[in-house]
Amino acid sequence: AAKTDGRNRARTFTRSMLIVLEQREMLRRSLRTALEEDQFFIEYQPLVSPSRAVVGFEALLRWRHPLIGIIPPSVFIPMAEADGLMSEIGQWLLEQVCRTAMTWPPHFTVAVNLSPAEFLHAGLTDRVARVLDLVGIRAERLELEITESVLLERTTNNLDTLNTLNVLGVQISLDDFGTYYSSLSYLKNFPFDTIKIDQYFIKDLEHDKKGQTIVRSIIALAHGLGMHVTAEGVETEGQMNWLRKEGCDRLQGYFLGFPLPAEAIGDFLRNASTAPADFPGLGADRN
Ligand code: C2E
Ligand code: MG
Ligand code: MG
Ligand code: MG
Repeated sequence: AAKTDGRNRARTFTRSMLIVLEQREMLRRSLRTALEEDQFFIEYQPLVSPSRAVVGFEALLRWRHPLIGIIPPSVFIPMAEADGLMSEIGQWLLEQVCRTAMTWPPHFTVAVNLSPAEFLHAGLTDRVARVLDLVGIRAERLELEITESVLLERTTNNLDTLNTLNVLGVQISLDDFGTYYSSLSYLKNFPFDTIKIDQYFIKDLEHDKKGQTIVRSIIALAHGLGMHVTAEGVETEGQMNWLRKEGCDRLQGYFLGFPLPAEAIGDFLRNASTAPADFPGLGADRN
């Protein structure tokens, strides 16, 4: 079968595929320029409590390419990882994000995603400590999101890194929960503060009994382990109401707010509830 596959692949390697490859190569080469010429920017998506008070934002990276326009992180982050540039980009982002968060109400948290290369980078914990110090933001306000894919390798080092971050006082979230291996041993061994349920489980929630059972179980599991739960990809009022009824701690999704450029957050907050008492978790209680 492998042989046939190989032959088919050779035969069907078309001009359009070549163009796609050339475009990817062109993009990959412009990544370094992007960093030097400030083509990256950050959007912030609100995280809300069950009563819809804003409690923080997740930082999401975008690339405004001068010719192509806006390129999503799913396209360029794997390239930056492969080129060894992601750690440098992430360092720039972390400082930007912490500075922006300092302009928000002081109980708001800010979440930053860490790709595998960033998490595995030997200098990560020092870098986080340095940025917290430099910017003067309380550690509890910073939430670092990692996915399980990161934890597949180098287990003892991973545990050291997570423990060091935990000692620094930053929050650690397990992102996209349910889409990778969902090995429960991670939950037993690693010090997460929050589990983020992947949007895949939220999509059909209102009509899918099995999905409901899974989400309900994840909430119970997280709470039983003393962790918070955030639901991603909440797009309807029905989903919001269901999650609220089931005791989900935080909600995120287009129904509650789109990712916004930093400059738009002031206006967004003027029309939103931001009561600090609303979400007695993550940072808020320590204010
Ligand atoms: P993620 O961390 O799971 O981020 C959530 C993604 O879901 C974001 O896509 C967000 O725009 C999208 N989203 C939010 N609400 C909804 C909704 O209601 N419906 C739907 N369909 N989608 C929703 P985005 O910004 O394209 O980011 C994709 C992924 O790229 C992120 O997934 C994260 O893994 C990665 N990423 C984004 N920014 C960064 C970054 O600064 N550093 C690193 N290392 N990774 C990043
Ligand atoms: Mg995330
Ligand atoms: Mg902690
Ligand atoms: Mg996610």
